[in-house]
Parts: sequence; C-alpha cells; structure tokens
Amino acid sequence: MDKLKEECGIFGVYDPGGNVANIVFHALVALQHRGQESCGIAVNRDKEVYCYKGMGLVTDVFNDKKILDNLEGTMAVGHVRYSSEGTQSPENAQPLVLHYIKGNLAIAHNGGIRNTAELKKEYERTGAIYQTTSDTEIVAYTIARQRIDSPSIQEAVSKSMNILKGAYSLVIMSPQKLIAARDMWGFRPLCIGKKGDAYMFASESCALDGVGADYIRELEPGEIVVIEKGKMTTMKEHVGKAPTSFCIFEHIYFSRPDSVFNGRTVYESRKLAGAILAQDHPVDADVVIGVPDSGVPAAVGYAKKSGMEYADGFIKSRYIGRTFIQPEKADREWAVRMKLNPLRSNVAGKRVVVVDDSLVRGTTFAYIVKMLRDAGAVEVHVRIASPPFLWPCYYGTDVTSGKQLIAHSRTIEEIKKLIAADSLGYLGLERLKDLVPSEMGGFCDACFSGSFPV
Ligand code: SF4
Repeated sequence: MDKLKEECGIFGVYDPGGNVANIVFHALVALQHRGQESCGIAVNRDKEVYCYKGMGLVTDVFNDKKILDNLEGTMAVGHVRYSSEGTQSPENAQPLVLHYIKGNLAIAHNGGIRNTAELKKEYERTGAIYQTTSDTEIVAYTIARQRIDSPSIQEAVSKSMNILKGAYSLVIMSPQKLIAARDMWGFRPLCIGKKGDAYMFASESCALDGVGADYIRELEPGEIVVIEKGKMTTMKEHVGKAPTSFCIFEHIYFSRPDSVFNGRTVYESRKLAGAILAQDHPVDADVVIGVPDSGVPAAVGYAKKSGMEYADGFIKSRYIGRTFIQPEKADREWAVRMKLNPLRSNVAGKRVVVVDDSLVRGTTFAYIVKMLRDAGAVEVHVRIASPPFLWPCYYGTDVTSGKQLIAHSRTIEEIKKLIAADSLGYLGLERLKDLVPSEMGGFCDACFSGSFPV
C-alpha cells in the first residue's frame, strides 16, 4: 500500500528477575508495525552481550522457544527495522553490538542522522572500518570515541549528542547500565515504563501494554535516562536546547492507534483529524468509509461530525505477507485487490466518502476509487486526514526525494483527476496543531510545510 514507512521501533529493559528476552520478544511483536524487515534482541548476562537477529517478522526470527531460552540475562535491548531502498541486508539488522576498549555496547536506534556523511569521512580518516551501511554504526562509533575521554558511558552519550545532528531515539546497553536517550528536537518517540522492579523504554506505549508494564512518561527531547543497579537517574543538560519537533506523522500514520503521547491516544488524534476534515471539506453523500486500517479512525470522526452513516467499506485480507505486496507497477491493481475487497452491500448505489490517513506516492489510490465504482458506488469523494505531502523526510523514513510524491508537482485538481475521484479534500496545514496536545510543545511538519527543523 501507498504508505510512508517508519524505519524502526526500539525497546530496552532492565529486570533483576531475569527473563528479559521474553519481555523484549513480546514488546517487539507489539512494535512490529514500525518495521517488518529485520529484528533482533541483545541481552547482557554477567557483562557479556549475547545477540540474536535476523531478517523477517519477530515471530519468524524468534520461531523456537530455545532461542529465547538461550538469551538469559538481566538487561536487554531489542529492535524492529524497516530498511530504506538499497540497505536491506542482514548486516544492517539491529541491535548493533560492538566490542571496544571499555567493553561491550549494544545499541538500538530509531531515526535518521543528517550529518552521517561528514562524520563517516572523519572517522574513516582515523582508521574506522564499517560493517554496515546504516547510520546506527556512526552513532555507535561516536559514542565509543567519546567514551575514551569520558568518565562514564552516559557522559559519552551526552557529548555525542553535541555531535549528532538529526533524529535519534536510542536504547543502549553497556556492561553495567541501560541507557535511553532522545535527540534534543524529540523527532522520534521514546517512553518509560515500569513493572515491579523492572524498568523499560519503548518507542510506543503499546509495547508497554503488550508486556503488562505501566506507562510512566515520555523522555523529554534531549533527555538521557540511566538505569544502574535498579535505580533510575536522569540527565537534562540538552533539554530545551532546540525547538521541540516531534514527528506529526507519528499521529497521522506511524504509531499504533492505542499508543499514548502526552496523555492523548493516537486514535483520538486521528478521529479528530476526521472531524476537522468534515468541517472543512463537507460533501453531500450517503456513507463514510475508511481505508483499513489507518484510515478508519479518521473516517469514524468524519462520519460523527457530518452526521452521516459510518460503514465498513473494505474487508482486508490479514494473511498476505509483506513481501507479497511489493509488485511491479503492472501488478499493483491486482495486489491492491488481493489486500482489500470492497463490501458491495455497503457501497452499491451510494455516494461514498472514502477517508485515508495520507496520500504519499499516489500509486494505489486510483485502484481504490476504481474498486469502489466497480462495486457500485455512484460517487466517490476522497478525504485525506493530512495535508498534501510535498517534501521528502530526512529523519528516519523511506521518502528521501520529492519526486516520489504525488503532490510534489501537481495541484489538488490534477491529483483528483489522476485518482478519478468526484472530489478531493485534504486536511489544512494550519489544522495540524489541533491534532497534538499542547503539552507536546512543538512538532515537525516538514514533509507538508518544507520547514525543516535540522
Ligand atoms: Fe515526520 Fe514529516 Fe517531519 Fe519526517 S518530515 S519527521 S515524516 S513530520
């Protein structure tokens, strides 16, 4: 389907009772939507790191209980990854484990570093050899180099935060400590949870729910949190150094609807986006449907606000693997049909409003409109619960060129014609601020506005 892909989900746990691999496994299953191409778990047992990772879904890679049983320890970090084009390889699977002068380090990273190229060259000049093409290795090198002249690993992380420019949420495991850090702009989410004596860090609160932990709070942008010998301490010297730039796309599409950011579920934000769309782009129609799954909350909000009936417009096949949905252009319509089938009884003879969360490359929406017409819809009105996607994202997603985007060089009228809709309405850029709780501070909307925070 035509979606912007998030690159990663991360999780870290300290549990004196052991059994950490099982906890990470279940958390990674809950974070699977953030990356489906590779995954891994690294555990710390008596200051040694043991890591198991591979290509595929969490349940495919960890498909034998013995694998988890062999990963005993009291600390662990885990990762799920979606790779951008050309970087899909087992070497890039995380956590990244390195052995250096101060011992072992395991790192799981979510985000995209903007100054990777210059740092890579600088480190190469002093003898660095790379095993991966991922910028996580640059993060690891930076921390390892800073550690040499720092009294502690958390000091090294703090110094590295002056060097690394861009988006990074990190969980890091040293021989003695579990550390979580969030870049000073706060692009990618990272929250803290607790269950008994165990501390956890997760990209999203749904992972804490998945392991029965209580959500405590989000890390602040620029904050470093350290767990050592069962005690949590925090460092805030980078907090407030940069304007908060939380990725608005976490609300629009990336995050799971049941995840909570600053006290509001993602579901509520998406429903609100639908209600705003109904206000700003009303249309006389009979039924509102959502494109499963991520378009559904906004469709519910649109229907409620407009007073129209909400109905299931498509049945989604849940059993098609990800690799199956990577067709050539000619096969795309067929692939969309395999994934979504219109519910004829709900759309035939009706004027339909179809709501989706975003329109990125526009490679599949014409088929969605066509399928609805083939199923008997007499009118198809498209509503998109985000603004026109105009600019690439450099902070950890797979759209790195504007040319890939349907709205980049087209007017809304041209897009409407291209997807053969009767009408098309997008959420206004100025409406994005209504989707996030005010306590969040600021947010990044660069892919819609072109205003890049870094
Ligand atoms: Fe998120 Fe868009 Fe900003 Fe990228 S450019 S971080 S997708 S809001």
